[in-house]
Amino acid sequence: MTKNITNGMRQSILFTKTRKEAPADEVSKNAEFLVRGGFVHKEMAGVYSYLPLGLRVLKKIENIIREEMDKAGGQEVLLSSFQPKENWEKTGRWESMDDLYKVSDSSGRVVALGPTHEEIIVPILKNYISSHKDFLAEKPLAIYQIQNKFRMELRAKSGMLRGREFIMKDMYSFHTSKEDFENFYEKMKDVYKTIFKRVGIGHLTYLTFASGGTFSKYSHEFQTISSAGEDTIYVDEASGNALNKEVLTDEVLGQLGLAKEKLVEQKAIEVGNIFDLKTKYSKPFDLSFTDAKGEKHVVLMGCYGIGLSRLMGTVVEVLSDDKGIIWPESIAPFAVHLLVLGEDEAVLKEADKIYESLQKSGVEVLFDDRLGMSPGEKFADSDLLGIPMRAVVSPRSIKEGGIEIKKRNEEKGKVVSLDELQKICLKKSIN
Ligand code: ATP
Ligand code: MG
Repeated sequence: MTKNITNGMRQSILFTKTRKEAPADEVSKNAEFLVRGGFVHKEMAGVYSYLPLGLRVLKKIENIIREEMDKAGGQEVLLSSFQPKENWEKTGRWESMDDLYKVSDSSGRVVALGPTHEEIIVPILKNYISSHKDFLAEKPLAIYQIQNKFRMELRAKSGMLRGREFIMKDMYSFHTSKEDFENFYEKMKDVYKTIFKRVGIGHLTYLTFASGGTFSKYSHEFQTISSAGEDTIYVDEASGNALNKEVLTDEVLGQLGLAKEKLVEQKAIEVGNIFDLKTKYSKPFDLSFTDAKGEKHVVLMGCYGIGLSRLMGTVVEVLSDDKGIIWPESIAPFAVHLLVLGEDEAVLKEADKIYESLQKSGVEVLFDDRLGMSPGEKFADSDLLGIPMRAVVSPRSIKEGGIEIKKRNEEKGKVVSLDELQKICLKKSIN
């Protein structure tokens, strides 16, 4: 599931093409670039299909998150999207959740289309948990899934940032004591920081205190500074922490030890959140355990979400220029975009050779081998697609001794040999 990414792809074979114009109804920058680059295809407002280049980015984000969840002791599952109405009635959310899709079939049966999975995971756990012995002292009980979720979002105008069908990682943790929960929750803060750092937006992402209505120490969002964000946060640069606008009361500021005049207001995108569920979902399903004395207690829970599709859109919002996307190396669809210019037989042959050897040495390379395109068109496409390193083979580069390389975020390039290019790319993949 993880190492399913092939090293090379020829652009002459890739069925998607870039587009000069954004779809007329697409107002967000992330969707504009992702659709124009052929990463995704828009089906309707808030619903996108992933095409080869977009799927590669998504898989890389997914693999980073999966690695970090596994390291934190998470056990992965894949849960159903069709969810029994009775479960939703039990928690009261069949009536109270406004964005729940209710799907009926011709027999009159109605089910929920999963917007989240507490109503599924808790009843599953009830089959396996009944005693304190079902919890291990040295290992947390944390279960996660990465899958499509459905929500009747009315304001689906932000491209990948707010989907009606979108991809989320959700983890649920289960605890026998408040301390156990608190320890795990604190650990997850660091796990989340690591994930956003690895995805390439750590420098723009703040752990943000969020009350979730009533004051609780255990409700945090991870907010990435962006003008496209729907949220307003207040950042304390000194500590690197922030608070959500809704919680900006004197009482909260006092409790967090923050001074109002030092906070800077920013627009931000909520890329993830973690919070204390207490017994909100375990109680309705009576998920409980007996302690060593035989006394019964309700299990405590925490939950930890990240929107993968939103994360992909966020990266495009914050790491792009007017020409297109600038992918971080960790999630770029390919490490190198190899372009061959002109149609000279010898040059084409040389470019082919370079393409083959880069692949063989384990470098992920997209090869623009398309004929009948001007250098300008190829450069423009390369800027739009945003692969971190561009490598050009042309009659001139060969005359100068090799391949002209340039980073997507730099103005000037330089000529290197194939050996040097391989070394540069391999060094990066080791780091
Ligand atoms: P928001 O306030 O933005 O609606 P939420 O509080 O409803 O988010 P959760 O239900 O806690 O979000 O979901 C966890 C994570 O899933 C969010 O932090 C976000 O990254 C992502 N997410 C939530 N709703 C969407 C959506 N409609 N499209 C894409 N990602 C989403
Ligand atoms: Mg929401």
